[in-house]
Amino acid sequence: MPASAVLVPVVPPAVPLPEHVTMVRSGRGCPACLDSQCFNPAECLHFLTAYPWSDCDMCDGCGWADEGSASLFCEICAGSGLVEHSCNSITPDEISDHAKARHATHVTRLRARVGSVAVTA
Ligand SMILES: [Zn+2]
Ligand SMILES: [Zn+2]
Repeated sequence: MPASAVLVPVVPPAVPLPEHVTMVRSGRGCPACLDSQCFNPAECLHFLTAYPWSDCDMCDGCGWADEGSASLFCEICAGSGLVEHSCNSITPDEISDHAKARHATHVTRLRARVGSVAVTA
């Protein structure tokens, strides 16, 4: 057997799964991952800062679902009231101050989490 024939075991990347994932949303979700826990805050932060975000059309940015809906929060934006736009589909003038303020809140929250979590990737 030639020395170069080294078998490299194919190991799937270790993806740490959260131990207690529930489908019950205790709070408004993150606009990027739609989960209030943000299991990958760095990725959420990337999405939140890469594209413009504005009021959700479905709920007019309030984040609440229609009366009679199965879920408490809007299913499109998970309660964040924000939806992503491509760079060309919206100008900063079209984004309401309300949406900008909520977006800034999410970015600040994620920045704090990314800063406190050791980067393992
Ligand atoms: Zn998130
Ligand atoms: Zn919505």
